[in-house]
Amino acid sequence: MPEADIIIIGGGIAGASTAMYLSQLGHRVTVLERGEIAGEASGVNAGGLGGIGWGAVPDLQAYLTMGSLEEFKTLQLDHGYDLEFRQSGTLQSIHTPQQYEYARDRMLRLTSQGYALELLTPREAMSIEPGANPELPGYLYLPLRGQADPEKTTRAFASAAANAGASILTGQNVIAMGQTGNGSWHIRTSQLAGDGEFRAGTLVLAAGAWCRPVGELMGIKIPIAPVRGQMWATASMAPQVFHTIGSVESAYDWSSQNGPDSSAPPELTHQGETRLTRHLYGRQTKGGEIIFGGDRQLADYDVNPEFDGIEVNRVHAMEVLPFLRDLPIQRTWAGTMPFSLDGKPIIGKIPLRDNLFIVGGLASSGFGRGPMAGKLLAEYIQSGHRPSVLNEADPARCVSPAT
Ligand SMILES: Cc1cc2nc3c(=O)[nH]c(=O)nc-3n(C[C@H](O)[C@H](O)[C@H](O)COP(=O)(O)OP(=O)(O)OC[C@H]3O[C@@H](n4cnc5c(N)ncnc54)[C@H](O)[C@@H]3O)c2cc1C
Repeated sequence: MPEADIIIIGGGIAGASTAMYLSQLGHRVTVLERGEIAGEASGVNAGGLGGIGWGAVPDLQAYLTMGSLEEFKTLQLDHGYDLEFRQSGTLQSIHTPQQYEYARDRMLRLTSQGYALELLTPREAMSIEPGANPELPGYLYLPLRGQADPEKTTRAFASAAANAGASILTGQNVIAMGQTGNGSWHIRTSQLAGDGEFRAGTLVLAAGAWCRPVGELMGIKIPIAPVRGQMWATASMAPQVFHTIGSVESAYDWSSQNGPDSSAPPELTHQGETRLTRHLYGRQTKGGEIIFGGDRQLADYDVNPEFDGIEVNRVHAMEVLPFLRDLPIQRTWAGTMPFSLDGKPIIGKIPLRDNLFIVGGLASSGFGRGPMAGKLLAEYIQSGHRPSVLNEADPARCVSPAT
């Protein structure tokens, strides 16, 4: 039976980055991924990287976004991986006078706390993003934000982990697990060549939107819900979109109503079939496609795009970049995001079992936050002490025995 110090279930950005840091710290790490590396959300996302600075008093969100930004830079600039990373900045459109007031208050509050964002007139926005709509009331500019190719990046973290000694095993669907008296883990997988058996002292769950069913295999309930995100793309073309693009519309709507109740995650675009708001993110890839998405809907692992939602999203994008009217949709796709029920990441030790950790609940921004989430968890496992910045991500607040 292959034996490791640490087994990680899941080969998305969370699992791959955790594997890289733990291997670099000298641990014998095995990653068990049932499909391919970057085969789920981490490979199909929009590639937008969040972050508005460390702020005067850095909190978890600042660590995850700004810390990850540094990790993207390190992999591409210092270690030579091509992630298609660039720190492009983000423009967020403002569509109504009410949204303008909200955006102005947000900008004033956050800049007073040491964060980097500016309110631009349409003229100022068009000087850095020539296709921007001159008729909108204004734009928020977030200069520290960036973008990268999700599949290349996730694979780069997995390669760096392998280079540091990790075993990255794909096609290994974890179907059972248990612990011996001394607390070490036995994991059983199903694979094409028959069942596999693995053993390790420590287990890390990095199964994204599948943390809940994986937790059920050991009798614990992990409150992470699968949320469908969907996207569309134009044909490839010469560069026309220079920033990542967003809109303040959803943040404005969520500021007054961020979820129906505690049985569903906050900040979704839908309650059942009813649309609550329009959310928007997009960019032009290095290959030339202009890609956009935004909807966040509970859809029980269904990754068939829903066309009414794609059309609403396209209209929203055209309000920001009017030239998109002339560009037909060439392809659509969807993936499953891991939303925790309280909206916060779940990173740290699960106290219900010995030697059990999780890095999950990274929701709609796990690509941009995953690397630092993995690094903080690796430091926790290495030292045995929880970094204080992870207090608010403590799994003890929400993980419970399965009933
Ligand atoms: C359309 C879309 C757009 C998005 N846009 C952005 C964006 O612009 N910026 C951003 O930061 N984030 C974005 N996100 C969110 C981001 O993709 C996720 O938060 C992030 O990828 C989650 O990473 P993860 O490693 O936790 O999960 P995943 O990438 O889902 O990885 C989990 C892995 O676990 C594996 N697994 C599950 N069960 C088992 C099992 N039993 N045995 C073995 N392996 C198993 C799965 O196969 C999967 O590969 C977007 C997501 C979507 C869907």
